[in-house]
Parts: sequence; structure tokens; C-alpha cells
Amino acid sequence: MSGFRCPFCNQNMSITTSTYSSYMLDFDGFIGEGSSRRFSPHATIDMYKCPNDECKKITFAVTSNNDFLDRDNIVLVHPRAVYQHYPDYVPQAIRDDYEEACIILNSSPKASATLARRCLQGMIRDYWEISGMRNLNQEIQAIRDKVTPSQWAAIDATRKIGNIGAHMEQDVNLIIDVEPDEAKRLLRLIELLIEKWYIGRHDEEALLSQIIASGDAITEARNQ
Ligand SMILES: [Zn+2]
Repeated sequence: MSGFRCPFCNQNMSITTSTYSSYMLDFDGFIGEGSSRRFSPHATIDMYKCPNDECKKITFAVTSNNDFLDRDNIVLVHPRAVYQHYPDYVPQAIRDDYEEACIILNSSPKASATLARRCLQGMIRDYWEISGMRNLNQEIQAIRDKVTPSQWAAIDATRKIGNIGAHMEQDVNLIIDVEPDEAKRLLRLIELLIEKWYIGRHDEEALLSQIIASGDAITEARNQ
């Protein structure tokens, strides 16, 4: 492993003895480096300490190996899930649905996908001021000419693949069976769209008002 991205501050860190430690253990206790027990069922504890002075948070994860637990997977203990921390100008309801969808992604992909669909609908209604449509599929169609071709390709890919796409015509609150990968893909789409829509708009407005303010300052200086 060459690097790790801190889930709290989103910065990359290199893996060194001061940022990372790992322990293997099974029911009988810790497993030493050369022990043959490392080939039998065991758990690994991974800890990452963020070197960023403004963060310094510890990420703590447990991994099951060789069927030590029911399923061999990584369980994030702290934080409970990795998600983006978006600024306040992204509407609260959208951030809430998105964060909750990330937290429950592994334990319940179908509940996560339901929240994510509701979140996507909320974003289309809020950002593009779309109303009066019958379902999410129509709402998505309504923004086809408004978004960039690459954003449309990402939205369309989610719409066309698997159960999520097949149920776009139905109420977003209906819980449907989805593959974990599908639920994850939907969350990545939401992250992309929050980035391009809300954050993109905010950054552009901030840059424009900076340019206008500096233009005003120049005019004022000339007039004096
Ligand atoms: Zn950090």
C-alpha cells in the first residue's frame, strides 16, 4: 500500500511507521510476524493517523481474513463510513440523505440506494428547479439538454444499468433490490453532480465577484 486518503480531511498521506500501524489477531490473541496462524482465519486491525496538522484524526478499520467472520470484508469502525463533507451551501436535506446513504451502504445497499435516489431527485428539483414531473425518470429526461454531455453520460449509465434503472418510473421511496455495486455507483454519481452543480456554481460565482470587485477597484483608482 503506497498511500491512503484520510476520510476526515480528504488529504492523501504516505504510509509510514508514524501514520500507519496494523495488527493481526485471532481468538487466541495477537499473531506474530512469522506465525503460521496468519494463514488461518484471523482479523486485521488497521489504524491510520492523519499527519495533517488541522486534522490529526485516526481512522480505525477491521478486516476479516480467511473467513474469520461470516464475510471477508473491511469494516470501518471510525469513521463509520467514508463520505464527502460538503459545505453548507449544499442544501441540508441533500447532504443528510447523501451521508445516511453512505453510512448504510454496506449494511443495506437497497436502503442506501433508496435514499440516494431520493437525494438525486431532490438535487434535480432544487438545482434545476424542475417540478410537476411524474417520476424520477421524467425529471432526469427534463435536464437532458441542461447538463453537459459527460454529466448526461454518467446519469444515463446509472439509469440504464440494473434494477435502479428499471425502477426509475416508480416512486423513489419504493425499496428495490439492488446489487451493492449499483448502490455504490449511484453514490459516486451523486458526488460527481454535487461537485459539478453546487460546488461548481459556487466557485464560479465567487471568482466572478472577485473579478468584478477588482474591476471596480481599478475604475475607482482611475477616477480619483
Ligand atoms: Zn485528515
